[in-house]
Amino acid sequence: MPEKADVAIIGAGVAGLTAALHLAEDGCSVLVIDQGDAFRGGSGANAGTLALQNKKSELIMFYRAALAEWRRLGDAVGGDMGYVGRGGLRVAESEEEAETLSREVARQKELGIETEWLDGNRLRHHAPWLGPSIACATYCAGDGFASPLLVGRALVEAAKRAGVGIATKRAFLGQRATDDGCRLETSAGPIDCGDVVIAAGPWSGQVGDKLGVTIPVECHVNMLSVTRRMAQFMDNQVVTHIAGRLTLKQYPNGSCLLGGGWRGRGGIDTGRKDLHLGRLEQNLRLHGQVAPHLRDAAILRSWAGFEAETPDHWPIAGGFRDHPRLFAAIPAKAGFTAGALVGRLTAERILSGETPSWARPMDPDRFQH
Ligand SMILES: Cc1cc2nc3c(=O)[nH]c(=O)nc-3n(C[C@H](O)[C@H](O)[C@H](O)COP(=O)(O)OP(=O)(O)OC[C@H]3O[C@@H](n4cnc5c(N)ncnc54)[C@H](O)[C@@H]3O)c2cc1C
Repeated sequence: MPEKADVAIIGAGVAGLTAALHLAEDGCSVLVIDQGDAFRGGSGANAGTLALQNKKSELIMFYRAALAEWRRLGDAVGGDMGYVGRGGLRVAESEEEAETLSREVARQKELGIETEWLDGNRLRHHAPWLGPSIACATYCAGDGFASPLLVGRALVEAAKRAGVGIATKRAFLGQRATDDGCRLETSAGPIDCGDVVIAAGPWSGQVGDKLGVTIPVECHVNMLSVTRRMAQFMDNQVVTHIAGRLTLKQYPNGSCLLGGGWRGRGGIDTGRKDLHLGRLEQNLRLHGQVAPHLRDAAILRSWAGFEAETPDHWPIAGGFRDHPRLFAAIPAKAGFTAGALVGRLTAERILSGETPSWARPMDPDRFQH
């Protein structure tokens, strides 16, 4: 027997599950399918950074809203998401980097983003654990991080409680129109539904091809490393670098997570996500330079995951003019931060038929024709 739902969502990552949660809370029957397990794509492999001050200035107001959405989601979901909101430092080493940081701070101030400039004694007092190569930094109280593992658990539980069906190891293969919507062909039989949401992260281009729409997402392979537990030394702040080459945080259990978007090898075409050892070594060296405590740290594990990026760096959220029952929820870079808001915006577009004017840059139609 075919399964039925008002809305079928392809992809059980942060975007697909938050969209599902909102739709179900509004009374829709929702089925989320995933070719693998829930929250095991980019949403389960990421660094959990929820930072504001390291975003491009043209996107920063969107990310401010995205962070507010995380706080709202935390209240709605109720479970422990491992959220730590002790602010963050964005560091600069060379004179040139310090100038860039100062220009970005000025622009952020104009936009109403509060950051504090730290150098000299104030910087050493605030973060005595930073290495001597750090010339200055900005502190932003709005930066934080969460645990992707705990977020995944809490979100899956909340979606199930709201009545969402989650079918794992069930790949979307194709579709055909029916009188009142469409029939999705999947690896575990057909699903009849009214609306369809593409929330397949970096695979969204492939899924879009089968649904007749263009979604030009590129897949990046990003690497991360985690250390063994260490004594707390950095007061649970998240650290980013003006040159974009580092994200560092220490979880309350003492483990440090070392990232920065350094590229591994592979892609969704081959399904391979392998470490690039040369780049990983450079990434770890940079961490040791920024936070010398890490020079004695033992790396427990390094891994790589897939991340989507769009040509204009904006997420994709909303509907398609020529396909009135098809929608997309695809956060771009920093998609864990963006994912909860992208999911809600897409759900609201399905429920109300409207997209707020500030969300128009995310319109999926910008890539059609
Ligand atoms: C190593 C790494 C570190 C990162 N660090 C951060 C960070 O610190 N902060 C931040 O904001 N972002 C970070 N990101 C980015 C972030 O993780 C992702 O952008 C975000 O999680 C994407 O969520 P999603 O729901 O769009 O996609 P995903 O979580 O990738 O989910 C998409 C799902 O679609 C499923 N799917 C695909 N094709 C099909 C199909 N045909 N049928 C059924 N299901 C299908 C997949 O199995 C997958 O589960 C990082 C990414 C990586 C890889």
